[in-house]
Formats: sequence, structure tokens, C-alpha cells
Amino acid sequence: MPNYDVLVIGSLNADLVVRAPHFPLPGETISGDDLQIIPGGKGANQAVAAARQGASVAMLGRVGSDSFAPFLLDSLKSNHVDVTHVRADDSATGTATIIVDGNGQNSIVLSAGANGKVSPADVDHATALRPSLILLQLEIPTLTVLHAAQRARQNGSLVILNPAPANPLPDELISLADFIIPNETELSLLTGMEVKDIPSAEQAAKVLLNRGAKNVIVTLGNKGALLATSTQVKQVNTYKVDVVDTTAAGDAFIGGFACALLRGLEMEKAVKYANACGALATTKFGAQPSLPTKEETERFLSLRGGA
Ligand code: ADP
Repeated sequence: MPNYDVLVIGSLNADLVVRAPHFPLPGETISGDDLQIIPGGKGANQAVAAARQGASVAMLGRVGSDSFAPFLLDSLKSNHVDVTHVRADDSATGTATIIVDGNGQNSIVLSAGANGKVSPADVDHATALRPSLILLQLEIPTLTVLHAAQRARQNGSLVILNPAPANPLPDELISLADFIIPNETELSLLTGMEVKDIPSAEQAAKVLLNRGAKNVIVTLGNKGALLATSTQVKQVNTYKVDVVDTTAAGDAFIGGFACALLRGLEMEKAVKYANACGALATTKFGAQPSLPTKEETERFLSLRGGA
């Protein structure tokens, strides 16, 4: 029997954010606003996204031995994510150093730290976890992601792969995932094709299907998402909202999609529900703070119509 709805095997990062009037040139020193330290990492964000949507969620990953570690773990715990399988080692906790300029553009340096050490053995140590579904991203080593997908297949768990940040993928991983959910940039990199609109997203999604993908869902920002399977290709519109900050829209989409599937919604309805989660996340500032709850999403859908 599954003992968790969702297991996320992935990254935890401290996001170190400074707003500045412009990006510094090489050798230049400029002054910015006060540093903000925000819990992040695609893995942790998606764990919180799914937990806010009402799923029971466990996280498997690594943090370091610095002061960011308890900060990130506390954030997950306060969102009811089980962190028993997040191991602390003697490396640095993962960070993302983010500069946001006066136009809202950002420039990011990722430092994997402990995330880079999440190993196949870590996955094997957690055999007691029998989730209905596992969520994977690419901020931990691809070999570990592949191993996790193989184990999940043996255990009968559904596998959702968010190939982010964009990185080449082995064909075996593509065919092990039940759902691959890239955004346009990630799909471009995965296929070597330019993805700039719905027709080009459709062409590139078909390339992934030909490489063995079962179901591909391309997130398209304010154009919603494209669902491509061996039997259908369908664009599903999102909702018009007042956008404040699009950070973590993709994470909200994935957490919402996973939970909608687990509640038994069929694929297109689950994508519609996920669009509502993504749209809601753009109406608030920040990553984890902007992820919508199940109640918020249902209220939004009952006002706007949907899944
Ligand atoms: P990422 O955050 O990974 O770049 P997207 O920008 O494609 O991913 O956004 C993920 C999802 O969030 C979209 O599929 C859509 O449902 C929702 N979304 C993103 N931007 C908007 C927007 N401007 N208006 C409404 N929904 C949006």
C-alpha cells in the first residue's frame, strides 16, 4: 500500500535575492536592496506545491551542515512535508544567488552543493517509502534521477519528470516517465528545435513522443499548456490574471497536476486544474509563498469555471 501520495526526489536551495538598479559589469561594484533569503529549489518548491494541494508528501534529498540547512527543513516542515529522508552531509547547502534588475529581469548563479551529492544509494535507503507518485527534476545528478525512475517503475509508482533546468536526457529516462513536463525553453534544449509558439511546441513534443515519451505536457506561460500523447494533441488555455511575479508558476503547475491526477481527474481536466494553480502562483510575489492551496484553487475555479 502506498504510504505517501507524493515523493519528491530533488533539490533544496536557499535563494539569495538582491534587487539592484542594473546588473553589475565585470569588475563593477554596485549597491542593491537588502538581501532576502527565501527557501527554494525546484524539488522543495514542488513538494510544497503538492502539500498545499492537500497531498501527503515526503521529500528525499540533501542539505549541508551550514545554517541554511535548518532554515530549509523548517520551511518544508511548516508546509507538512516529511523531511525524514533529507540527509545532512558536510557539504554546503545548495544556493541560488539571484540578482533582480530594475526591469524585473533576473540573473542567477546556481551552486548545487549538497544537491550534487544525492546518490542512487540515497534512493535505495528509502525503500520504506511507497509513494503513489514521484516527482523528479534535474537539479540533482541525472544518474540519480534515472535510478529513482527505475525504482519507481518497479514499485508501481507514477513518475512525473520536470526536465528543469534544461539538460540533455538519456532516452531511457524519457521512456520511464509517465509524464514529462518541460517549459518552452527546456523543450527547445531537449529536442534541439526552436520552440516559440504552439505549432513549434507541438512539433517538438512529437519528437519526444518518438523518443519514447508516454505523455508530454509543455507549459506555455500565458498560453496555458499543450498536452501531447500518442492519441491526441490539445492546447489547454490558462486563466487571465493580474500577474505580479511568474516565479514558481511551473512548480505550482506540476504540484497541482500531480494532485489532480491522484484525485482521479482525467489528463485534460488535470491540466486545466494545473493551469489554475500556475496562474494563481503568478498573482503573488516569490516562490514558495506564492504556491496556492487546494481551497484557494477550488475557490478560484468556482468563480472562473473549470476542472
Ligand atoms: P515556468 O515557470 O517553468 O517557466 P511557465 O511560464 O510555462 O513555466 O508557467 C507554468 C504555468 O503557469 C503555465 O502553463 C500556466 O498554466 C501558468 N502561467 C504562467 N504564466 C502565466 C500568465 N501570465 N497568466 C496565466 N497563467 C500563467
